[in-house]
Amino acid sequence: MTERELYKELRRKYGDTTQQGIAIEEMAELTQAIIKGWRDIEKHGYITPPVMDNITEEMADVNIMLRQLTEMYGNGYEIEMTMKEKLLRTEKRLAVEIERSIKWE
Ligand SMILES: [Mg+2]
Repeated sequence: MTERELYKELRRKYGDTTQQGIAIEEMAELTQAIIKGWRDIEKHGYITPPVMDNITEEMADVNIMLRQLTEMYGNGYEIEMTMKEKLLRTEKRLAVEIERSIKWE
């Protein structure tokens, strides 16, 4: 089964609302994992292996759910275009900020 076929099957079996709910849950779990990483840094000065493993797992979960949502909404092309625009805008804004900070030095 391909990745796309698997997503289609999940939608058919559980429905879009359930899958959207799982996406929301996974985003919350990633939020929690990142916060645990902050706590580790405060306590130990670094992120411990189990916490890092948890961050990796939750990032994988969120990536999977984002891919599922992309299949569901059929907006993969629009996402790519929007990302390109946003990254370009961010790059330009960063260049302006760097320019300003050089002038202030
Ligand atoms: Mg998870």
